[in-house]
Amino acid sequence: KRKRDEEDLDALNQRVQDLNVEENDYSTFANLPLSQPTASGLEASHFKALTDIQKQAVPHALKGSDILGAAKTGSGKTLAFLVPVLENLYRRKWTELDGLGALILSPTRELAIQIFEVLRKIGRYHTFSAGLVIGGKSLQEERERLGRMNILVCTPGRMLQHMDQTAAFEIDNLQMLILDEADRIMDMGFQRDVDAIIEHLPRKRQTLLFSATQTKKVSDLARLSLRDPEYVSVHGAA
Ligand code: ADP
Ligand code: MG
Repeated sequence: KRKRDEEDLDALNQRVQDLNVEENDYSTFANLPLSQPTASGLEASHFKALTDIQKQAVPHALKGSDILGAAKTGSGKTLAFLVPVLENLYRRKWTELDGLGALILSPTRELAIQIFEVLRKIGRYHTFSAGLVIGGKSLQEERERLGRMNILVCTPGRMLQHMDQTAAFEIDNLQMLILDEADRIMDMGFQRDVDAIIEHLPRKRQTLLFSATQTKKVSDLARLSLRDPEYVSVHGAA
């Protein structure tokens, strides 16, 4: 069984390597090289065809590229980063022992909760632990759970508070940083918090930045956080 699993993982890794991002005709999730848990989670959630921004972003993100993505509200940006988060940790055989693998920053508690709910739906067949860090509970209570999480969805202020105050908070292993609704993160005045968070993170990581609009502040943040990104945008971005 174990040998079989390793062969499956090798085959999956090979298929990701072989992804053709130039010819890109991955119009359904079933056409993409995805793990069984993710494929099943998407199917059970009734997601079949990719939206335009997903079509453009997911193949690059699966291959490990940084992404600067722009597409208007409602275009499906959440799955454009959640699918790669699940896959890239899965292909690295991420377990509880590996600690925090992906950090997702969202401007508001409401949006963070929405992302977390989508993650729970499409991630239901994975074994990763996932948590929300949005305040509203005592720091102590959040702190105790933080150390056990593989994927965190959080608001910038609260995250920084933990990084500054939670001694045992381990982020040296972090593989992926997601900045969702980056324009709103900046508009809401979180620039310094985000800068400080990024300073705490390992440099060797994958960063996906999504935004509904392309503003000066967003390109400043992109310059600071991304390395050699793929630019993906959907016509008619707000
Ligand atoms: P955005 O973050 O760009 O505003 P969301 O990720 O919140 O967009 O998605 C908007 C809506 O589209 C949600 O209701 C979501 O369930 C739906 N959606 C996203 N991707 C797909 C897809 N591939 N197929 C069908 N519906 C989708
Ligand atoms: Mg969104």
